[in-house]
Amino acid sequence: MNWFDKLIPKINTGSALGRRGVPEGLWNKCAACQAVLYAVELQHGLQVCPKCNHHMRLGARERLQAFLDADSLQWLGEGVTPVDMLKFRDRKRYRDRLSEAKKSSAASEALLAARGALHGAPVTAVAFEFKFMGGSMGSVVGERFARAAEHSVAHRRPLVCFAASGGARMQEALFSLLQMAKTTAAIARLRARAIPYITVLTDPTMGGVSASIAMLGDIIIGEPNALVGFAGPRVIEQTVRETLPEGFQRTEFLLQHGGLDMIVDRRELRDTIAALLAALGYSGVEAPPEPPALDPAAAAAPAPALEAPAAAPALESPADARPQNPAPRS
Ligand SMILES: [Zn+2]
Repeated sequence: MNWFDKLIPKINTGSALGRRGVPEGLWNKCAACQAVLYAVELQHGLQVCPKCNHHMRLGARERLQAFLDADSLQWLGEGVTPVDMLKFRDRKRYRDRLSEAKKSSAASEALLAARGALHGAPVTAVAFEFKFMGGSMGSVVGERFARAAEHSVAHRRPLVCFAASGGARMQEALFSLLQMAKTTAAIARLRARAIPYITVLTDPTMGGVSASIAMLGDIIIGEPNALVGFAGPRVIEQTVRETLPEGFQRTEFLLQHGGLDMIVDRRELRDTIAALLAALGYSGVEAPPEPPALDPAAAAAPAPALEAPAAAPALESPADARPQNPAPRS
């Protein structure tokens, strides 16, 4: 080793000074306008480019921490972790893929769930982590979502879902596809009790997630210019043999064609969702007042067939049954 090589490690680590060198990732480049942005500023702005408003991808943990009131967040379902039931192996073993995903995404699975408050109002919120195997819907995603929905039912809290997913998790085969039915049934329980379910579609929301959780919101919000669809544009073009229109599968296109209710800038999501929930009677109280029963027969009617009695025993008495409000989309 020559004198130069001996010297270099010391300079790089800054060990001689007793502190670290220049931190990695201090600057980020906007993919849309190519502006070089200071990472800390970008983090404060929730990964939205201050120059052109391009919405970059935001991790599930940061998303939920930014969405819920400070110090109100409590994680749900963290103990539910993936199991390789099929001993699946493609180019790599599924188990190895899972441990790699855990390391690279710093998340325990592709969906994180939490309870907390939004402007003082209790809510349950879930967010997909796209960095964890493309936000794919494995059985843990379904189970955590179902638990969050059950928590919402038991405590009469609205549920908010931030979607970002490539769709089903191929390595779990049928177990992955089953999650579409499982999460849909969980949403039906919310609907049966007229508890609001709001979805926010972020870039990208595709496949089985767009075909279940994401598009079943009572209110469906999109982030600007997010890709939302079932199959990708290239697959569709090859199938229908036509050139797709400009902006196809972007949220602006979906809004024009009735697929979304609104597009909201990420920095305004907290205020917008809080206002929507307040308008629906969920603002800062644990249990919103019961609306007067319009039809006594309907109020006392037994719970719908989808009801699992174990899900929320506290709500099963006829006194707690609420008339089902006409949902905006049913
Ligand atoms: Zn930009």
